[in-house]
Amino acid sequence: MTTFHSTRSTTDSLTSKEAIRLGLADDGGLFVTDSLGETKVDIADLAGRSYQAIAYDVLHALLPDFGEDELKDCIAAAYGTQWSDERITPLKPVGDDYILELFNGPTSAFKDVALQILPRFMARTAPAGGDGADHADEKIMILTATSGDTGKAALAGFADAPGTAITVFYPQGKVSQVQELQMTTQTGSNVNVAAVEGNFDDAQSAVKRIFGDRELAGRLAADSHVVLSSANSINVGRLVPQVVYYFSAYAQLLEQQVINVGDEVEFVVPTGNFGDILAGYYAKRLGLPVKHLVVASDKNNVLFDFLTSGTYNRQRPFYQTISPSMDILVSSNLERMLYYFAEGDTRLISMLMNDLKNWGTYEVPEPLLAKVRQLFGCGWANEDQVREMIADCWAKNRYVIDPHTACAYFVAQQMPRDPLTPRVILATASPYKFPRTVNEALGFDATGTDFDCMDVLARETGTVAPAALRGLEHADVRFDTVVPIDGMEDFVESAAKAL
Ligand SMILES: *Cc1c(COP(=O)(O)O)cnc(C)c1O
Repeated sequence: MTTFHSTRSTTDSLTSKEAIRLGLADDGGLFVTDSLGETKVDIADLAGRSYQAIAYDVLHALLPDFGEDELKDCIAAAYGTQWSDERITPLKPVGDDYILELFNGPTSAFKDVALQILPRFMARTAPAGGDGADHADEKIMILTATSGDTGKAALAGFADAPGTAITVFYPQGKVSQVQELQMTTQTGSNVNVAAVEGNFDDAQSAVKRIFGDRELAGRLAADSHVVLSSANSINVGRLVPQVVYYFSAYAQLLEQQVINVGDEVEFVVPTGNFGDILAGYYAKRLGLPVKHLVVASDKNNVLFDFLTSGTYNRQRPFYQTISPSMDILVSSNLERMLYYFAEGDTRLISMLMNDLKNWGTYEVPEPLLAKVRQLFGCGWANEDQVREMIADCWAKNRYVIDPHTACAYFVAQQMPRDPLTPRVILATASPYKFPRTVNEALGFDATGTDFDCMDVLARETGTVAPAALRGLEHADVRFDTVVPIDGMEDFVESAAKAL
């Protein structure tokens, strides 16, 4: 039986549904299972299978307490016509490498892969306290502070999802025009969005306080039958859907006759919170022949320093870059990787995470680092290099990449090439999400609005802007509330009452 417990202790014994509903363990650890990889996914007949069929095999191996029909319903709803490519994550040859496009979902960023299915998982987890009548109408309200990408992908995923609601706060004036419109025009009867007078950290800290407020939790439960939860990337239900596209990439390499069954492949991954690349490690544990996983960072290169020195040190300047979704100093999901490489030593993990909390830094034992480095490579790109790579990739391959993907593209160019091992670069956002930066890099006009920039990019490159992004210019704005930091709690409470 697959059960889940914290990375910091083995006392819990939860089903995957319970782990998904709870999100984070009480001791602050992340949920893991010691059964990871006991059930392998058969790679012999991957070629020719649909994304949805592959998703079933992978998710069934990782979430065994979901029934066959439950999983199939979740998959069908999450990976349907809201994706603009029927392969969901199509693999394209670009130069000597391959690019796996993860951005063809409804919000044009890779977070859609996970956030389209997480709400469907949550709707199928039983309310706390079993199926007693008291809890039958309990709703989960997702609460998120966002600096841009995650908020929209979460809104799109949870909009009108049964048994759920979602409230998103973003810092007023601190997100791009497109990002703001993506959120304020979101449809759905269970969604709420507000701008906050403050910066992202203020909003984030306030959300954490709201999560910790027992009195509020009591009122929400009593008055509105609402429990608060988070959709951030440490939830098991966000991590496991990402394992699927590693198998899908392999299937497409087989179909394109680049490899034979059993051949090894390398993945280069734009990394922030370490969720995307950790899913590649899970894929390897499930039997995918992964030779190397390469962490690509931006100027916030805390992971590069860690993987080269063994010391993780968050006490460093924070840079706001043109790849904002990778601007992170604490990569939460790294804790899961350390747990597995330390062979389940929860005491070591607790100690390291305590050091991080108390001193802002920790150091892993040398043998552990050596093991990690056999599988994980690393590199990083500064902002000039990111711009150069956007231009280089367009000039050489007539393929436009976004600033996040450009970090990985740069790192791939720096690595020695092994002609026998195909390399897959994960593309995490559509270039049309960052049209101004991309136009500047390509030497195109970048003076107008974001929408003018999209039109220029389309005209100059002969590519087409995703309809959902281009259409934002004239979409109806549904939310224009601005709240002070100390008004966020009231906003949550009235949103819950209105459900
Ligand atoms: C979230 C995000 C990333 C980083 O992914 P992690 O799972 O946090 O490592 C990279 N690129 C884009 C565009 C993203 O939105």
